[in-house]
Amino acid sequence: MKNLSIRLKITLWFGSALIIVVALTLIIVFSVSNSVMIKDLCNNLSESVEHNVDEVEFYSTFDEIHFDNDSDHYIAYNNGYIEIDDDFLDKVNGISTSLCESDGSLLYGENPIAVHTVSQDFSDYKIQAVSARGETYYIYDRMLTLEGLEGLWLRGIVPEAMGKTQLSYIVNLSLVLLPILILISILGGYIIAGKTLYPIKKISLAAAGINHGQDLKKRIEIGNGKDELHYLANTFNEMLERLELSFKAQKQFTSDASHELRTPITVIMAQCEFALSSASDSEDYRNALIVIQRQGHKMSRLINNMLDFTRLENKSESYAIEKINLSDLVSSVCEDMSLINEKSITLTFSTDDNIYVMGNSQLLSRLIANLISNSYRYGNENGHINVTLTSSEETASLSVADDGIGISKEQQPQIFNRFYQADSSHSGEGAGLGLAMVKEIAAFHGGSITVESEPEKGSIFTFIIKTSN
Ligand code: ADP
Repeated sequence: MKNLSIRLKITLWFGSALIIVVALTLIIVFSVSNSVMIKDLCNNLSESVEHNVDEVEFYSTFDEIHFDNDSDHYIAYNNGYIEIDDDFLDKVNGISTSLCESDGSLLYGENPIAVHTVSQDFSDYKIQAVSARGETYYIYDRMLTLEGLEGLWLRGIVPEAMGKTQLSYIVNLSLVLLPILILISILGGYIIAGKTLYPIKKISLAAAGINHGQDLKKRIEIGNGKDELHYLANTFNEMLERLELSFKAQKQFTSDASHELRTPITVIMAQCEFALSSASDSEDYRNALIVIQRQGHKMSRLINNMLDFTRLENKSESYAIEKINLSDLVSSVCEDMSLINEKSITLTFSTDDNIYVMGNSQLLSRLIANLISNSYRYGNENGHINVTLTSSEETASLSVADDGIGISKEQQPQIFNRFYQADSSHSGEGAGLGLAMVKEIAAFHGGSITVESEPEKGSIFTFIIKTSN
């Protein structure tokens, strides 16, 4: 059973259940209809005999009889005449009626079992079952009480087989038709199960395809639908979409990282080669070592940045979230950074008091520091940086504005991408990871980061976060 396909299992369960239900239904229907049939037969029998009671009359003289041109039957009896109506012998529903004397001798009519030696005592108003010739018969007797007819009996007899003819026809028909209908239902069930499970087959084929190294661009095509399997296929497709994007990002990251590392390594190799082959005095060696050290620092910074970034992006490190006084945090970072004596740029800041947010202070300090150090890096000689922190009802807004080189409209959407550098001539030690980190930290806190900028005029970066006052 375990090795059977789901489709076959469903069909087997469904088929067996169907056969059991049909068999049980047939048994119930036949037993009920059998007892109904017998009850019906007995009712007809008693009704027919009761009707015939009025068909028998006694006349003491011949003159009393009213002849009315029909074919009534007359029997001389006890110094008189018995008149029996012409429809006495009509065998309605296979019921035979006989007029007997109390000793059982037949005066008129038919008594099929009496001929075959089965005699049964008369019993007024009572249905009796008797067996004769291997068959069951039902008998109903009525004692006649009218004057002249005393001591005579009417007996109705009907074979049980009479009612069974119709039932056995239904049984035979069912025995032929039901197996055919069951077979058709099972076949239909098998086909429907196959169609219903088709998406699962497609899903497993797609999964097997991906497993065997095919690309993640594959999607499960099962058309539109709202059932569970369509929902599963859609979820699977969404999962593939996310996997594809994340693999793509991973690939891009690796290629960008190797690209960024290639330059310092090339410089280091070149300096080593120069020192080994062409350096003539200690001054040459010293200069070569200075360059190598600088490039080494650059590589180390880059690798640290990349590690921080991946940790944050993959959420591989758990950063504690706590209630932070953002006003204090911004002030302290600004105070520290205003000491940077670069290009004689002046940093001023203003913060609304006691703005609280839920977040990680280490990450938020990093966000503020990255924005401010960019403003220094891309600022002009004697320029200005202005940091403001304000809050409205539910949000806090931190903006870092500078009057530096600015960013063109076309480049603005890309500056938050990893390794993107709009102006590499100013970037110096940067590697294009600062703003990507800022965006990741903002997203981590459920906030947003936007930029407004005009080349040669300056830029304003705005970070919005929910307050927790
Ligand atoms: P980088 O290490 O190059 O500074 P970032 O991710 O911090 O990398 O910034 C990406 C790019 O966005 C920078 O290369 C620079 O061209 C641009 N940029 C960022 N901040 C500013 C700014 N305040 N003024 C002008 N350009 C900026």
